[in-house]
Amino acid sequence: MSNTMNLLTPEGKMAAAKERLIDELRAGGIANEKVLEAVRAVPREAFVPAPFQRDTYANRALPIGEGQTISQPYVVTLMTYAAHVEPHHKVLEIGTGSGYQAAILCKLVRRLFTIERFESLRVKAERTLHNIGIFNFSSKLGDGSKGWAEQAPFDRIVVTAASPKVPQSLLNQLAPNGVLVIPVGETDAEQKLMRYTKNAAGEVAEYCLGPVKFVPLIGEEGAPDHSATNQTIAGRIASLTMRGSK
Ligand code: SAH
Repeated sequence: MSNTMNLLTPEGKMAAAKERLIDELRAGGIANEKVLEAVRAVPREAFVPAPFQRDTYANRALPIGEGQTISQPYVVTLMTYAAHVEPHHKVLEIGTGSGYQAAILCKLVRRLFTIERFESLRVKAERTLHNIGIFNFSSKLGDGSKGWAEQAPFDRIVVTAASPKVPQSLLNQLAPNGVLVIPVGETDAEQKLMRYTKNAAGEVAEYCLGPVKFVPLIGEEGAPDHSATNQTIAGRIASLTMRGSK
């Protein structure tokens, strides 16, 4: 922290909160200075909606619209740390959301490919990343549970939404010596952060990194879309009512 920083200005307070957060992450076991340096280099305030700016550097998840959240900084750094990313890596992220995790990854790797299922979030994240000078990524709208076949294989895959089971397509799209980090669990209470590693021979091993809580990965190889089911049920009730009233 610079001695000349004015702690009374909003910028000064935010910078101080950021340094406290970095200390907290280090104390919490994020033992990789490159990852912590990426946290320092990325302005999280650019990804946080106006009403929550005050909590930008609090270690918590915050709403970003469409019922989704920007992940807690500890979780973002834990996933990045667990993925063991290297500067030459080609990485796939599923669940762009605000784009914050994408920004951290972009600072650490050669190129990032990121998929989001809400176009509103995808467009906003892309704009935010460009605004802060990050361009080494490609984003697309789609169901990330099936991966990004045209761009495979990937050295690393980071999934920021929880899946009932690990999607086979993601394991298939992992390069030899690749690592996939993904929250897996049928229910919120059962979610565990998992790391899948593929060796040079293509054999996969799994490790559990601990309990976590993420929004669901909704897609063909992920969780069912309840909002669509509800709409279908609502549609059925509407048509029954219409038939009944004939
Ligand atoms: N990485 C984000 C966290 C976003 S929360 C950040 O740093 O802000 C998880 C995101 O995954 C949500 O935006 C959600 O819409 C998205 N998502 C859920 N299922 C998905 C799927 N099958 N494909 C792509 N994105 C998905």
